[in-house]
Amino acid sequence: MLKRIDLGRNYRNHKEEYLKAIEAVCEETAFSGGRFADKFDEEFAAYLGVRAAAGVDNGTSALQLAMLALGVGEGDEVIVPANTYIASAWGPTYTGATPVFVDCTKDTWEIDPDRIEEKITEKTKAIIGVHLYGQPFEFGKVKEIAERHGLFIVEDCAQSHGAKYEGRMTGTLGDLGCFSFYPGKNLYAFGEGGSVVSDKEEYIDAINTWKNQGCKVTYYHDVVGYNMRMEGIQGAVLSVSLKYLDEWTRRRKEIGERYIREIKNPRITMQAHPANTEPVYHLFVIMVPEAEQFVEYMAGKGIECHRHYPVPCHLQKAYAHLGYREGDCPNAEYLAAHCVTLPLFPEMEEEEVEMVIEACNKYEG
Ligand SMILES: *Cc1c(COP(=O)(O)O)cnc(C)c1O
Repeated sequence: MLKRIDLGRNYRNHKEEYLKAIEAVCEETAFSGGRFADKFDEEFAAYLGVRAAAGVDNGTSALQLAMLALGVGEGDEVIVPANTYIASAWGPTYTGATPVFVDCTKDTWEIDPDRIEEKITEKTKAIIGVHLYGQPFEFGKVKEIAERHGLFIVEDCAQSHGAKYEGRMTGTLGDLGCFSFYPGKNLYAFGEGGSVVSDKEEYIDAINTWKNQGCKVTYYHDVVGYNMRMEGIQGAVLSVSLKYLDEWTRRRKEIGERYIREIKNPRITMQAHPANTEPVYHLFVIMVPEAEQFVEYMAGKGIECHRHYPVPCHLQKAYAHLGYREGDCPNAEYLAAHCVTLPLFPEMEEEEVEMVIEACNKYEG
């Protein structure tokens, strides 16, 4: 069975280097925060071309701390796309704010800038834009709206490491950028990890204090903090992987672009990739009329597919109290009912790519 994503191949390709990096952390017992986590912060900020990065324990914490840094809290509203992984909405929710869901466009499947303004009230504080599936959202239009209404923009870059919008790295466009290094993301830890990046160093300083039990100096707690530090081993592993990220991204693009060129089946619809963006193909999502049946068909051909995501955020049980109904975000709902994710990861062999293309082209419904 060809897996949707096979992390073991990457581990085996770089095993010695990874184990050496982990051993160095063990030798120094720099397990929580410390030198290796700090070093990765510097390297990651340099990679993005941003002033500062704060490594944290996961991408969900990154979003929560970004909200805190902007002063989002009780009584505030934050615009979030309906089509995203649920953690995009957890950030504002944890602070006591309310996520307000906006539909995606019919073609890019990213937040629809034309539907944002109708959701803005005097309580709206920020917009969380998500570069979903590794495809940058229409940042220019979102920024215009944010400026007109005095709102902050946080980019959820959990799926967009290295993706560019008009030549600029995602994560460096808005007020703050939030990354996840969950296993399977384009850049990932051997466990959990995340980062918040910004050109505004005061945000990153505040986040570094919150994540470290509210301390700048150990045992002196300036604010009520959290335990959200990055682990040393994760920093060391991420420093190894970061060196290969561009190479992995190139391979992802090759495979993604081949799918786009060679999958020709009228039953299959693909995401639009506007010319002013450079996507990084985190997930290759297609739409088919009968999604579950297609997943079974592909499994029969020895190809594992998943579905990202079968329920849009506004219809999740966790947010039932917000009172959304079916029909509130029709494009996101349609996508949720018809999406299927094809295998795509840098270590895929050419024959495997061809196998996926052929199976898609032979699908008759
Ligand atoms: C993975 C992901 C997150 C959460 O990151 P974790 O590290 O798993 O907490 C947030 N938003 C999006 C869009 C994601 O894909």
